[in-house]
Amino acid sequence: ATPTALMVGTGRGAQLGILIKGPEVLESTRKVDTIVLDKTGTVTTGRMTLLKVHTTRGTAEADVLRLAGALEHASEHPVARAIAAGATERVGALSVPEDFANVPGLGVQGVVEGHAVLVGREKLLDAWAMPLPSGLARAKEEAEAAGRTAVAVAWDGEARAVLEVADAVKATSAEAIRRLRALGLTPILLTGDNRAVAEAVAAEVGIDEVIAEVMPQDKVDVVKRLQGEGRSVAMVGDGVNDAAALAQADLGLAMGTGTDAAIEAGDLTLVRGDLRVAADAIRLARRTLATIK
Ligand code: ADP
Ligand code: MG
Repeated sequence: ATPTALMVGTGRGAQLGILIKGPEVLESTRKVDTIVLDKTGTVTTGRMTLLKVHTTRGTAEADVLRLAGALEHASEHPVARAIAAGATERVGALSVPEDFANVPGLGVQGVVEGHAVLVGREKLLDAWAMPLPSGLARAKEEAEAAGRTAVAVAWDGEARAVLEVADAVKATSAEAIRRLRALGLTPILLTGDNRAVAEAVAAEVGIDEVIAEVMPQDKVDVVKRLQGEGRSVAMVGDGVNDAAALAQADLGLAMGTGTDAAIEAGDLTLVRGDLRVAADAIRLARRTLATIK
């Protein structure tokens, strides 16, 4: 490969909104046959909104919003931001938790106004032996079947509410998947979110293969497993959670709208966070290499 031809390729990349870490990156794009896509913030906007609050009988919605909102206010997760913003809108200023801990891939836990509070996946509540009563379990199932993320809220030893949080699929995602398929790549959706939510999103954008409910530290193992099957894997992601998987992939594509950790781990950055540019990047790299040969 002549350095000049590669420079031309990367210069054209910058025009398209692609930053390429080094010329050697172009080489890895040629063999890529599988593309793993993170859901939240990559295929979806990641700008979530709080839609609904389901409570048990005897639980006041305002209490749910005050306690869950205060705890989530201390977290930067997209789900947490939606809950904190929705709570502030409905009940006003939130108190500062007396104690707070992030539980990656599961939610948050802490103490608010003297109450021990949990907010997150049902699995987080399971760990504390606080099952969802049947009414809330039904609300959760219905929300997830509709593609929404259901967040459970418990305090003082009891599950008391389910919050429905909605994220929107990016307008460009379905077109991006079509273009990636046209290049011969098999798309796979990878997420820590619930399977029903993941499948609803996958169906909306035209992805057949879904790997859901994956803990943040296990995303890298999914990439390794696919590589072990002889596949050459591209991974697209935006979160801190995605960094290790981006580094492990044969080609790591980071959303420019994402976290610094993801951008540092990627080989290539999609500056505007437009997934269609992932297909442009792969086509450009292949064409650049064809010119050199
Ligand atoms: P993703 O892989 O979709 O980017 P994560 O691995 O960060 O998501 O989280 C997986 C799931 O855990 C989320 O979809 C959400 O249901 C739950 N979760 C994580 N953090 C929080 C939080 N702070 N509050 C509520 N739920 C959370
Ligand atoms: Mg993400």
